[in-house]
Amino acid sequence: MITTEFKVNPEFEAQLAAAGGADVKLCFQCGTCTAGCPSGRRTSYRVRKLMRMAQLDMKEAILDSDELWECSTCYTCVERCPRQVPIVDIVVALRNIAVAEGHIRANHKKTATSFYKTGHTVPINDKIKAERKAMGLPEVPPTVLANKDAMDQLDKILDATGFNKIVE
Ligand code: SF4
Ligand code: SF4
Repeated sequence: MITTEFKVNPEFEAQLAAAGGADVKLCFQCGTCTAGCPSGRRTSYRVRKLMRMAQLDMKEAILDSDELWECSTCYTCVERCPRQVPIVDIVVALRNIAVAEGHIRANHKKTATSFYKTGHTVPINDKIKAERKAMGLPEVPPTVLANKDAMDQLDKILDATGFNKIVE
Protein backbone atom coordinates (compact mmCIF):
# COMPACT_ATOMS: atom_id res chain seq x y z
CA MET A 1 0.00 0.00 0.00
CA ILE A 2 1.36 3.44 -0.91
CA THR A 3 1.78 5.38 2.29
CA THR A 4 0.26 8.81 2.66
CA GLU A 5 3.20 9.91 4.80
CA PHE A 6 4.62 13.05 3.19
CA LYS A 7 8.36 12.49 3.31
CA VAL A 8 10.32 14.05 0.47
CA ASN A 9 13.79 13.46 -0.89
CA PRO A 10 14.98 16.59 -2.75
CA GLU A 11 17.64 14.69 -4.70
CA PHE A 12 15.04 12.41 -6.20
CA GLU A 13 14.04 14.80 -8.99
CA ALA A 14 17.53 14.66 -10.52
CA GLN A 15 17.81 10.92 -9.92
CA LEU A 16 14.49 10.23 -11.65
CA ALA A 17 15.40 12.56 -14.53
CA ALA A 18 18.70 10.74 -15.02
CA ALA A 19 16.81 7.44 -15.10
CA GLY A 20 14.50 8.69 -17.87
CA GLY A 21 11.58 10.10 -15.88
CA ALA A 22 12.12 13.85 -16.28
CA ASP A 23 8.80 14.36 -18.09
CA VAL A 24 6.79 13.52 -14.98
CA LYS A 25 6.73 17.30 -14.57
CA LEU A 26 4.33 17.56 -17.53
CA CYS A 27 1.53 15.83 -15.61
CA PHE A 28 -1.21 18.25 -14.52
CA GLN A 29 -3.15 15.64 -12.53
CA CYS A 30 -6.25 15.37 -14.70
CA GLY A 31 -6.74 11.70 -13.73
CA THR A 32 -7.44 10.42 -17.27
CA CYS A 33 -4.74 7.78 -16.82
CA THR A 34 -6.28 6.35 -13.66
CA ALA A 35 -9.76 6.36 -15.21
CA GLY A 36 -8.67 4.01 -17.98
CA CYS A 37 -6.10 1.91 -16.14
CA PRO A 38 -7.07 -1.78 -16.14
CA SER A 39 -4.71 -2.55 -13.25
CA GLY A 40 -6.35 0.13 -11.14
CA ARG A 41 -9.71 -1.58 -11.58
CA ARG A 42 -8.41 -4.68 -9.81
CA THR A 43 -5.94 -3.25 -7.29
CA SER A 44 -5.30 -0.21 -5.13
CA TYR A 45 -2.86 1.08 -7.76
CA ARG A 46 -3.60 4.64 -8.92
CA VAL A 47 -1.25 5.81 -11.64
CA ARG A 48 -2.20 9.49 -11.27
CA LYS A 49 -1.22 9.28 -7.60
CA LEU A 50 2.09 7.64 -8.48
CA MET A 51 2.89 10.49 -10.92
CA ARG A 52 2.06 13.04 -8.22
CA MET A 53 4.22 11.31 -5.65
CA ALA A 54 7.09 11.30 -8.15
CA GLN A 55 6.58 15.04 -8.74
CA LEU A 56 6.74 15.56 -4.99
CA ASP A 57 9.99 13.55 -4.64
CA MET A 58 8.36 10.99 -2.32
CA LYS A 59 11.10 8.50 -3.09
CA GLU A 60 10.90 6.16 -0.12
CA ALA A 61 7.12 5.84 -0.25
CA ILE A 62 7.28 4.97 -3.96
CA LEU A 63 10.14 2.48 -3.73
CA ASP A 64 8.55 0.68 -0.77
CA SER A 65 5.13 0.38 -2.39
CA ASP A 66 3.61 -2.73 -3.94
CA GLU A 67 1.66 -0.53 -6.36
CA LEU A 68 4.84 0.35 -8.25
CA TRP A 69 4.78 -3.24 -9.54
CA GLU A 70 1.08 -3.37 -10.43
CA CYS A 71 1.31 -1.54 -13.77
CA SER A 72 1.09 -4.10 -16.59
CA THR A 73 2.68 -1.68 -19.10
CA CYS A 74 -0.39 -1.91 -21.34
CA TYR A 75 0.09 1.73 -22.50
CA THR A 76 -3.61 2.65 -22.28
CA CYS A 77 -2.71 5.65 -20.14
CA VAL A 78 0.01 6.79 -22.54
CA GLU A 79 -2.44 6.73 -25.46
CA ARG A 80 -4.98 8.82 -23.53
CA CYS A 81 -2.84 11.30 -21.60
CA PRO A 82 -3.63 14.85 -22.81
CA ARG A 83 -0.15 15.98 -21.82
CA GLN A 84 1.61 13.13 -23.58
CA VAL A 85 3.36 12.16 -20.38
CA PRO A 86 5.49 9.04 -21.07
CA ILE A 87 3.89 7.31 -18.10
CA VAL A 88 5.23 3.82 -18.74
CA ASP A 89 8.77 5.15 -19.21
CA ILE A 90 8.40 6.87 -15.84
CA VAL A 91 7.09 3.70 -14.18
CA VAL A 92 10.01 1.75 -15.66
CA ALA A 93 12.47 4.42 -14.49
CA LEU A 94 11.03 4.20 -10.98
CA ARG A 95 11.28 0.41 -11.06
CA ASN A 96 14.88 0.56 -12.26
CA ILE A 97 15.76 2.84 -9.37
CA ALA A 98 13.91 0.54 -6.97
CA VAL A 99 15.79 -2.54 -8.15
CA ALA A 100 19.16 -0.74 -8.16
CA GLU A 101 18.56 0.23 -4.54
CA GLY A 102 17.58 -3.25 -3.38
CA HIS A 103 13.80 -2.98 -3.50
CA ILE A 104 13.36 -5.96 -5.83
CA ARG A 105 10.52 -8.33 -4.93
CA ALA A 106 11.41 -11.96 -4.12
CA ASN A 107 9.45 -13.39 -7.05
CA HIS A 108 10.96 -10.89 -9.47
CA LYS A 109 14.42 -11.85 -8.25
CA LYS A 110 13.59 -15.51 -8.72
CA THR A 111 12.47 -14.83 -12.30
CA ALA A 112 15.56 -12.70 -13.01
CA THR A 113 17.82 -15.41 -11.57
CA SER A 114 16.23 -18.06 -13.77
CA PHE A 115 16.68 -15.83 -16.81
CA TYR A 116 20.32 -15.14 -15.91
CA LYS A 117 21.14 -18.81 -15.36
CA THR A 118 19.18 -20.42 -18.19
CA GLY A 119 18.03 -17.72 -20.60
CA HIS A 120 14.43 -18.58 -19.68
CA THR A 121 12.22 -16.90 -17.12
CA VAL A 122 10.35 -20.21 -16.72
CA PRO A 123 12.76 -23.11 -16.17
CA ILE A 124 12.53 -26.12 -18.47
CA ASN A 125 12.23 -28.93 -15.93
CA ASP A 126 11.67 -32.68 -16.40
CA LYS A 127 7.89 -32.29 -16.33
CA ILE A 128 7.93 -29.69 -19.11
CA LYS A 129 10.38 -31.78 -21.11
CA ALA A 130 8.05 -34.80 -20.85
CA GLU A 131 5.05 -32.69 -21.91
CA ARG A 132 6.96 -31.32 -24.88
CA LYS A 133 7.98 -34.83 -25.91
CA ALA A 134 4.38 -36.07 -25.63
CA MET A 135 3.34 -33.28 -28.01
CA GLY A 136 5.99 -34.28 -30.54
CA LEU A 137 8.27 -31.35 -29.75
CA PRO A 138 12.00 -31.50 -28.99
CA GLU A 139 12.46 -31.88 -25.22
CA VAL A 140 14.69 -28.81 -25.19
CA PRO A 141 13.21 -25.83 -27.09
CA PRO A 142 15.28 -24.30 -29.93
CA THR A 143 16.26 -21.25 -27.89
CA VAL A 144 19.48 -20.33 -26.12
CA LEU A 145 19.10 -23.64 -24.26
CA ALA A 146 19.93 -25.48 -27.45
CA ASN A 147 22.49 -23.00 -28.75
CA LYS A 148 25.65 -22.47 -26.72
CA ASP A 149 26.87 -19.56 -28.86
CA ALA A 150 23.59 -17.72 -28.34
CA MET A 151 23.75 -18.44 -24.59
CA ASP A 152 27.32 -17.07 -24.46
CA GLN A 153 26.17 -13.92 -26.27
CA LEU A 154 23.24 -13.53 -23.87
CA ASP A 155 25.63 -13.88 -20.92
CA LYS A 156 27.79 -11.08 -22.35
CA ILE A 157 24.76 -8.81 -22.78
CA LEU A 158 23.50 -9.50 -19.24
CA ASP A 159 26.94 -8.83 -17.75
CA ALA A 160 27.50 -5.69 -19.87
CA THR A 161 24.14 -4.21 -18.87
CA GLY A 162 24.64 -4.96 -15.18
CA PHE A 163 21.76 -7.45 -15.11
CA ASN A 164 24.04 -9.86 -13.25
CA LYS A 165 24.11 -7.48 -10.28
CA ILE A 166 20.37 -7.95 -9.80
CA VAL A 167 20.80 -11.63 -9.09
CA GLU A 168 24.10 -11.62 -7.21
S1 SF4 B 1 -3.46 11.48 -17.89
FE1 SF4 B 1 -1.43 12.45 -18.03
S2 SF4 B 1 -1.71 14.55 -17.28
FE2 SF4 B 1 -3.51 13.35 -16.65
S3 SF4 B 1 -2.99 12.64 -14.55
FE3 SF4 B 1 -2.38 11.03 -15.97
S4 SF4 B 1 -0.22 11.47 -16.44
FE4 SF4 B 1 -1.07 13.30 -15.54
S1 SF4 C 1 0.39 1.18 -18.66
FE1 SF4 C 1 0.21 0.70 -16.48
S2 SF4 C 1 -0.51 2.60 -15.54
FE2 SF4 C 1 -0.91 2.75 -17.74
S3 SF4 C 1 -3.01 2.04 -18.03
FE3 SF4 C 1 -1.66 0.26 -18.34
S4 SF4 C 1 -1.51 -0.73 -16.34
FE4 SF4 C 1 -2.32 1.34 -16.00
